Amino acid sequence: MSNLPKIAWIGLGIMGSPMSENLIKAGYSVTGFTLEQDKLDRLTAAGGTSAASIAEAVKDADVIITMVPASPQVEAISYGPDGILENARQGALIVDMSSITPQTSVDLAKNAKEKGIRVIDAPVSGGEAGAIEAVLSIMVGGEKADFDEALPILEALGKTIVLCGPHGSGQTVKAANQLIVAVNIQACAEAVVFLEKSGVDLVAALDVLNGGLAGSTVLTRKKDNFLNRDFKPGFRIDLHHKDMGIVTDAARNVGAALPVGAVVAQLVASLRAQGDGGLDHSALLRAVERLSGQQV
Ligand code: NAD
Repeated sequence: MSNLPKIAWIGLGIMGSPMSENLIKAGYSVTGFTLEQDKLDRLTAAGGTSAASIAEAVKDADVIITMVPASPQVEAISYGPDGILENARQGALIVDMSSITPQTSVDLAKNAKEKGIRVIDAPVSGGEAGAIEAVLSIMVGGEKADFDEALPILEALGKTIVLCGPHGSGQTVKAANQLIVAVNIQACAEAVVFLEKSGVDLVAALDVLNGGLAGSTVLTRKKDNFLNRDFKPGFRIDLHHKDMGIVTDAARNVGAALPVGAVVAQLVASLRAQGDGGLDHSALLRAVERLSGQQV
């Protein structure tokens, strides 16, 4: 028997599936629950155990990792008679890796504490590729002792793992991350359309741009999406729309002006309204193409 903490994993989507598999590879026992049967089958095939409910997944767990789309889903899996707080054992540690509003994280930590359950917020950056390669950046909010306890687990999932401050701080930093990523993708998309319309060799151009000050992880990771018009997610526009809402709202609350972020938030919203919400966020290129009179 391994001495490693027993893990429950709730939310086995684009990110949760490869991340939970990395824990299994690192020797952890993982019991998972998610809404899609094929994702549960994938977990079992990777050496994990599938549970029939949240209650079943969390009842014996030392650490409960959650990776669901947004605040409403975190609340749905956490609260109520079938939720994590009613069914986890006292002393368990919840590591919520979903990207949600900082306030939802603060409230969850407070409500969990009343049940003797600890929480850290630990959203991630690095995308699906970063999840598969276990090189995510993980931004944590919560108590130092809980961060230290979770660290060996997080080290099996990511490379840059930082405690940013009290509960909710991880989410605030993640909101800033999403602002930077969206603006960067938008700038890359505008450059792509400009370069193409100018008749420049796009492969050569993106290559040399990425070697200079204009280079970025966004350009490295999304270059092929732009070149091949491959917008299979990845990170869905729907989720980035949610994140632009989080950062816009959080910035208003502290009196920070985000003029460029506000414009890009509108462009993301517009792309979604045109039916592209299920595409990868590199599909911001489609919006620029439409604005530039190209048929897409
Ligand atoms: P996804 O939609 O692929 O997966 C979400 C999973 O949550 C699904 O498998 C679904 O079954 C599960 N779920 C939803 N409600 C549930 C419930 N009530 N009970 C049990 N399971 C439930 O989403 P994703 O792309 O994996 O993103 C997850 C989170 O990670 C989001 O907050 C997202 O913003 C963030 N994130 C995603 C990426 C990315 O590149 N995809 C990168 C960084 C952060």
